[in-house]
Amino acid sequence: MKLLRTPAEMRAWSDARRSAGARIGLVPTMGYLHKGHISLVRVAGSQGCDAIVASIFVNPTQFSPGEDYEKYPRDEARDLATLEAAGVSAVYLPGVGDMYPPGYETYVDVVGVSQGLCGARRPGHFRGVATVVAKLFLAAKPHVAVFGEKDYQQLAVLRALARDLDFGIEIVGAPIVREDDGLAMSSRNAYLKGEDRTAALCLSRGLFRAKALFDGGERDAGALVAAARREIEQEPRAVLDYAEGRDPETLAPVNGKIAAITILVAAKVGPARLIDNVTLK
Ligand code: AMP
Repeated sequence: MKLLRTPAEMRAWSDARRSAGARIGLVPTMGYLHKGHISLVRVAGSQGCDAIVASIFVNPTQFSPGEDYEKYPRDEARDLATLEAAGVSAVYLPGVGDMYPPGYETYVDVVGVSQGLCGARRPGHFRGVATVVAKLFLAAKPHVAVFGEKDYQQLAVLRALARDLDFGIEIVGAPIVREDDGLAMSSRNAYLKGEDRTAALCLSRGLFRAKALFDGGERDAGALVAAARREIEQEPRAVLDYAEGRDPETLAPVNGKIAAITILVAAKVGPARLIDNVTLK
């Protein structure tokens, strides 16, 4: 497994693999890996990628002032062992100074689908995400890039980025991986101690409740979203950020009778801001 630490090293590796006829798959992460991340590596393999590169970069430009950039969990040694066991060919670990050297002044804005939901609550977040992913695309030159549906709005933003800037990269979404009790896996779950860990289940419980209603025939968007919202509002340790119903493809708001809906929720539980979603169709 090759370790690449600068954009130049990443490009050289990618150029060599491409010349050798490899199909390159990219799996971007912020590290502190869990089974959700490893599932993305497997999905890249299932897409016919024979040279898979995972990146680990805690991207400062996607954190707002006062968010958890400094205390975001990091464990490079463990992550590298995990990726080696998962069979990736290379790991890209650029430093902050390599990605954003002094004088850096170029950003990428995906204007439409970045609005609302997390875009409204975390100003500048998706601008940071789109910028860093554009830089990863240009350095790693993948044929395929895999992202989790856990970050559903992010996946929509990155589909728009790849499409609008003609990257020619296939964007593949991968299903949410959950703990046995339903909690969506997240590096930020490391912040959940004691009763906060139990309280965090209100997000998935609300989404499962909405799914049960949908499976029972409920098609009113308001009723489905209300069921998810109620579980979060009834949890004293949780502070609801949003619970909204959107079109699964466009993320446009939906109301009234629906054929398909994605319900997206965000809440603060103790020190952790958590997000989750479910698509019903
Ligand atoms: P992160 O390291 O949190 O920035 O996530 C890196 C990638 O892993 C993103 O594409 C996420 O959507 C994806 N991911 C994170 N958690 C999960 C999960 N529980 N299931 C599936 N994908 C996930």
